[in-house]
Amino acid sequence: MTAGLLILGGTAEAADLAGILDGIQGLRVVSSLAGRTASPRLPPGECRIGGFGGESGLADYLRREAVTMVVDATHPFARRMGWTAAHACAALGLPWLRLQRPAWVAGPTDRWTEVDDWNEAVPILRRLSRRAFLALGRQELEPFAGLDDLWFLLRFAEEAPPRPAPARFALVADRGPFTPAGERALLLAHGIDTIVCRNSGGAAARAKLAAAAELGLPVIMRRRPPRPAGPSVQSAQEAAAWVRAQFSA
Ligand code: NAP
Repeated sequence: MTAGLLILGGTAEAADLAGILDGIQGLRVVSSLAGRTASPRLPPGECRIGGFGGESGLADYLRREAVTMVVDATHPFARRMGWTAAHACAALGLPWLRLQRPAWVAGPTDRWTEVDDWNEAVPILRRLSRRAFLALGRQELEPFAGLDDLWFLLRFAEEAPPRPAPARFALVADRGPFTPAGERALLLAHGIDTIVCRNSGGAAARAKLAAAAELGLPVIMRRRPPRPAGPSVQSAQEAAAWVRAQFSA
């Protein structure tokens, strides 16, 4: 009998998991991407792209494709998909696992102010900053678009213009990986006095925080949104062990 694994992806950890499990006899692995970027890095093995159509659409997909287990490896700031997956799996009685890289923890030289949403960040930014690096997603610019007195550095994987665009900004297109020395040079070149970012976790994205600490810059750090309660691991290797255990159970 073939087991079926659906990996809800869009992260490096999801691609790593697909790579580890690629080619295992008797296990069909499908990676799913939302289709947000025009040229995504495709994970190894079978892949599908696009939303499922909410909980009922996902449940239909899981039944139709004979999926027997799901790993939610979506980004820590992807708010909806994990809840949809947890509910659909509960309804169908399927085992489900959350794979999420560890959150960053502030060190003694970090100057973080933590917030739960961007509306909380805006008055802090007004008080602290003239030139800020907004290290966040394209779809999150709206709360900052009216801050006409500030200048912003934006960095996205693709060059398409931001919408809504702040009055004054520069856009850098770069997917990384980033290093502390490179981030330090970027912050100095643009005269950045504050960084605004999300607690995404991961070594490459932490480089900007190391540079900020070195330069003594404040960081406005958004905490992660809540996730459904359930089994959770922090690495692709641990998730692969869970999959193997389900597979052989
Ligand atoms: P979201 O709020 O959780 O998802 C919004 C909708 O997009 C979901 O309801 C679902 O549509 C669809 N979707 C999300 N992930 C999917 C997947 N892996 N496969 C198929 N459909 C998916 O997430 P988001 O913030 O829009 O992010 C979209 C994707 O980009 C996620 O997969 C995430 O891993 C990746 N990503 C997000 C961020 C971020 O900062 N948010 C950063 C890096 C990568 P239906 O309801 O129609 O099924």
